[in-house]
Amino acid sequence: MRTLTAKNMKNMKRGTVSGLSHHDPSKIEKMASRFEVFANENPASDTKRKELIDKPAFGVLFSDHMAHITWTEGEGWTDRRIEPYGPLKLDPGASVLHYAQEIFEGLKAYRHADGSIWLFRPDANAERFQNSATRLALPQLSFEDFIGSIAALVKRDNAWVPSRREYTLYMRPFMFASEPFLGVRKAKEVEYCVIASPSGPYFKGGVKPVNIWVEDTWFRTGPGGTGFAKCGGNYSASLVGEYIGIDHGCEQVCFVDAATKTYLEELGGMNMFVMYKDGHLETPCLTGTILPGVTRRSIIQLAADENRDVVEKMIKLDDLIEDIKSGEVAEIFACGTAAIVTPIGRLKSEKFDLTVNGGQPGEYTCALREKLLGIQMGEVEDKHDWMWKVQ
Ligand SMILES: *Cc1c(COP(=O)(O)O)cnc(C)c1O
Repeated sequence: MRTLTAKNMKNMKRGTVSGLSHHDPSKIEKMASRFEVFANENPASDTKRKELIDKPAFGVLFSDHMAHITWTEGEGWTDRRIEPYGPLKLDPGASVLHYAQEIFEGLKAYRHADGSIWLFRPDANAERFQNSATRLALPQLSFEDFIGSIAALVKRDNAWVPSRREYTLYMRPFMFASEPFLGVRKAKEVEYCVIASPSGPYFKGGVKPVNIWVEDTWFRTGPGGTGFAKCGGNYSASLVGEYIGIDHGCEQVCFVDAATKTYLEELGGMNMFVMYKDGHLETPCLTGTILPGVTRRSIIQLAADENRDVVEKMIKLDDLIEDIKSGEVAEIFACGTAAIVTPIGRLKSEKFDLTVNGGQPGEYTCALREKLLGIQMGEVEDKHDWMWKVQ
């Protein structure tokens, strides 16, 4: 168990790489300038683009360009380019199609009131992408190439970054084994791309608590598996469980640990926090089966900033059930880049059906959501230098 308090967080280093603040766009400019631009000859018309930004079809429609880097065993990463968005040419024998050697990331580009465009902690995503690559035996991509590719794409397609609050350009970096080979080994050819899709508010018509199905038959991962890596395979493994949840009237599923089926882990794509009546927070510790969310990490820091204790530990499902029943638990919420902070109103399984905070969004949950969104939108002071200015 590790307890974070404001006191022992004080000595944490600010995340500066070269001494320059992330608020200085020249920091990102150098990384982005290594990408050669091949312009899309048929970009979306102004009218079409504005329509897509206004009524985003998240994950269905993408901006005019994509970032692309190719890796081979002999030459390493070459051909840094921004090219027209379009289908990839892939050999049917490509390893990814057979053995799922694939990893991805997700982050957003935010437009502030003055028109400037920013990223939230892209260095944290870069670090996680390297850890995911190591786990899947894929090559390492440098921080410079990761952040540079995203920045170069945002710069090229800057008109695609919306202005309205909670409207963003969602960036999806991903890497996969493209080598046509049916043997099982490290790939000798790999592609890395970034695509971008305009996205709108996660909750249309105000923040609403979600109902959670606690799944203990099918698991997304297990001990020694790929739980801490952001890889497509975890998501394919989670689908059956997600549909069991849907069959029980729940929007999302919370997975418990596969080894003992007794500890709370996380949702299919979001981490979880429990707030107790006395104000302290608890969240499942990173055991290797849980994805280390950037939002999770940021919330732990924000809580420490306000002298709120955060306990990272293995949370026993039975204990949590007792604490909800006895009224000790005040609020439960999920967090991730897409929805920021999401109140959980109900926990349900074959054995129990519990309402949290009367099924209403918690006061702290909502305040935390506002604070994080405020930092991302440039409305709240960015004390930890989390925001990187693209332009
Ligand atoms: C991406 C992801 C999260 C959230 O991570 P953020 O960095 O906060 O967006 C949580 N759990 C899983 C399984 C994920 O894939």
